[in-house]
Amino acid sequence: MADEGKILALGIDLGGTKILTAVANAEGKMLSRDHSITPATEGPPAVVRSILESVGRALDQANIVVADLTTIGIGAPGLSNPETGILFTSPNLPGWKDVRLRNIVEKELGKKAFLINDANAAAVGELYFGAGRGARNFIYITVSTGIGGGIIIDGKIYTGSIGTAGELGHMVIDDEGPQCNCGNRGCWETLASGTALAREARYRIKKGAATSIPEHVAGDLEKINAEAIHEAAQSGDKLANELIAQAAYYLGVGLANLINIFNPEVIIIGGGLSNSGDMLLKPAFEEAGRRAFKQSCEAVRFARAELGRNSGVLGAAAFALEKIREADRIPQR
Ligand SMILES: [Zn+2]
Repeated sequence: MADEGKILALGIDLGGTKILTAVANAEGKMLSRDHSITPATEGPPAVVRSILESVGRALDQANIVVADLTTIGIGAPGLSNPETGILFTSPNLPGWKDVRLRNIVEKELGKKAFLINDANAAAVGELYFGAGRGARNFIYITVSTGIGGGIIIDGKIYTGSIGTAGELGHMVIDDEGPQCNCGNRGCWETLASGTALAREARYRIKKGAATSIPEHVAGDLEKINAEAIHEAAQSGDKLANELIAQAAYYLGVGLANLINIFNPEVIIIGGGLSNSGDMLLKPAFEEAGRRAFKQSCEAVRFARAELGRNSGVLGAAAFALEKIREADRIPQR
C-alpha cells in the first residue's frame, strides 16, 4: 500500500504498436512498468480493453490500487485536444475518430485523467525528468519512422488553440517532395526520417545502385530500415553514406526553421535515428548553423534525449501531475 499522502501518477503511453503503462512518483521514479501489444487493427474498444488490462498489471506490480493514485495521464498518437480529452484522429490507430478517450478512461477507472499527444508527452517527460531539466524554452524532436515533436515555452508544453500544435514532422520542407501520410507533400518526416531513408534506399537500389545495404536485411528490400542503412554506412558503403548525408541535410533545414521561429535554449533529439549519432546529427547541426540566424544559433545547444522509451509514459504522468497542480493553484470560479 502506498504511503499516506504520497503523490503517484499513472502514465499510459498508447502507441500504434505498443502500450506502455507505468506508475511513477513526482520525481519520475517508476514503481512499475507494463508493456503490451496494441491490438490496433481491432479498433477502439479492443485497444481500450488492452489499456485497462495493462493498467491493472501496472497497479498490481506497484502493489497499489486506483484510489492510491493522484492522477492519470494518457499519451496518444495523432491529433487530440487536451482540454476536451478527445482524440480526433490517429494515423497509427485505424478506426479512431473523435474518440472521447479521456472520459472513457476516467469512467472505467473512476479517477481524473488527462490526455496529451504522445510526442508532446515525451517533451514534458524530458522537461521534468530528462535533458530539458532547468530549461524554460526548448524544442523536443523524436526522429524514428516519422518525426514527432513538442514545444516547451516558459516551462510548459505549448499545445495551441485546440491542442494540435507541435506537429513538427509535418512542416513542409519541399513542396514538391514525397507524398506524406498526412496527405501533403514534402513534409519534414518524408525527407529526414527512417521511413525516408528506407524509401530512398529501395528506390536507388531498384535503379541499379551498387550497395551492400541488402546484405544487412538478407536480401529482402522490404526489410530495409534506418538501422540497416546505418550499419552499411559504418562499413563504408557509399550509397548508405550518401543517403544519411541527404537525411542529415534535410534534418538541418528543418532545425534551422525551428531555431529561427522559436529561438530555443535547447533542441533535444530522441528517437531511433538519433542513435546514428554523429554520422547524422553532426552534419544536420552544421546545416542548421549555415541556415539559421547567427545569434539564434549561438544561443542554442543540442542535446540527446535522456529518457529513451520511457519519455512518453513518464511525460504523460508528469503532464497529469502538472494539470492537478495547476487546478490546485487556480481557484474554481
Ligand atoms: Zn505530413
